[in-house]
Amino acid sequence: AQVTRLAPSPTGFVHIGGIYAGLINQAVAHRTGGRYLVRIEDTDQSRQVDGAIEQFNRAFDYFTLPADSPTAIGDYGPYLQSARQDIYLSHVRALLRTGQAYLCFATQQELADIRQRQEDTKVPTGYYGDWAIWRDADPGEVTARLAEGAPYVVRFRSPALAGARRAFTDAIRGRLEHEDNRNDVVILKSSDSAVRLPTYHFAHVVDDHLMRVNLVIRGEEWISSVPVHLQLFEALGFEPPVYAHIAPLMKQIKGGKRKLSKRKDPESTVDFYLGEGYPAEPVLHYLRGLANGRLAELPLAQALQEPIRLEDCGVAGPLVDLVKLEGISADHIATLTSEQILTAVREWALSHDPDLVPVLDAERTLALAAVDVERVGVDNPRKDLRKWADFRDAYGFFFPQLFTPVAAGDERLGGLDEDLVRAFAQDFADRYAELDDPQAWFDQIRTLAAQHGFAATPKEFKKNPDAYPGSIREASQLIRVALTGSTRSPDLFAVARTLGREEVLHRVTTLTS
Ligand code: GLU
Repeated sequence: AQVTRLAPSPTGFVHIGGIYAGLINQAVAHRTGGRYLVRIEDTDQSRQVDGAIEQFNRAFDYFTLPADSPTAIGDYGPYLQSARQDIYLSHVRALLRTGQAYLCFATQQELADIRQRQEDTKVPTGYYGDWAIWRDADPGEVTARLAEGAPYVVRFRSPALAGARRAFTDAIRGRLEHEDNRNDVVILKSSDSAVRLPTYHFAHVVDDHLMRVNLVIRGEEWISSVPVHLQLFEALGFEPPVYAHIAPLMKQIKGGKRKLSKRKDPESTVDFYLGEGYPAEPVLHYLRGLANGRLAELPLAQALQEPIRLEDCGVAGPLVDLVKLEGISADHIATLTSEQILTAVREWALSHDPDLVPVLDAERTLALAAVDVERVGVDNPRKDLRKWADFRDAYGFFFPQLFTPVAAGDERLGGLDEDLVRAFAQDFADRYAELDDPQAWFDQIRTLAAQHGFAATPKEFKKNPDAYPGSIREASQLIRVALTGSTRSPDLFAVARTLGREEVLHRVTTLTS
């Protein structure tokens, strides 16, 4: 059984790649009857942001990717690194006892000087070999500094010789070989900070061992750290896990692709998906299809049947295509009932569009009818609802609270003569009958259009454009704009029926003013 983990650092930003990685970790662990852990790596207190852990939990709850609860494998928590201080300290002590770690009193200034000299002499920068001034310090000197209360860090004594290389096997990339690590990395941060915390490198090695993690699936940016991680596992006498470094999610740009960028691409953050109101399920489905690499060749439903296997993850990151995601999302929403849609929209609106909530609450019946209008024409269901933020655009016009009636002269009327618009609207209102039969209903408009000089067909109008103000098409568009505020809408008859006689008359009469 594989025990995997996701190890996010709460920096106030949850990348969609985190959900992608979580999904892969979870799927791989579950497929082998194992367990998937979430461990919060908060040892870098300078990067800590208030509320970041809650933000992370919210995102993972939304996408239903919580850690597996402790099982027969055992509970090796806490899963919050800042709560594991004593555990790390005891392992730091173990390395100090065997001489595999040492105290380093180098000041920031001394480190900067070392770096400068390395740059000047064109040798690799770092704290290693002869440059590591405290590596083989005289014990008397160390004792004296300690007695003075001088601040220090604990460094790992790298066992690598100059020029050494290290090979390891990555479950996705096969055999990799890297320069071995010669840096005496810091494993315990300075003794003068308020809390004594280990560095990421050290903490994660201790944790992955103690938490029985045997498969580390993480971003490819960590490949170059594998040598130092393996050195630490060996120094502590722990069996290292298998590593699998996944490629990052990519974005199509002109002339190629690049990593989804936290700074440039809003869709890189989970907040984007929550804010726009993408239902969790289609997003997860899409990411799953990207992870198993089958989406390109199979329809979604079939692609989802395929397992996520590390060897399929590939070394080239998959492209995130929002248009594709929107399609999957719209298809998903089309399978929901109007009740389900409204419940979800309301839930979304509570945090992202609070003004919409009282409207939905006051007009529940109208809202249900509106969502149903959208679904008229089952053979060709319209796909205007791809995410909950589309609700206002798609259905907002139904609600008197959200709709401003259109006046004659409005540009959405396509430049029709204002007097003609007024007269047409007045006649329409005077004779308006709420009919059950769409054919008869449209005949009302047709008769009226003819009386006001509109051509009977667009073709006729085109043949002789100077003879008419427009055709029957422009005449019905006039009514459409009056009722919906837009030149595109669901079936006009269905809209009018849903609005009801009074509201139809109110909107059309506004055109005469
Ligand atoms: N805390 C690290 C990060 O935020 C995790 C690296 C790892 O998975 O080992 O990227």
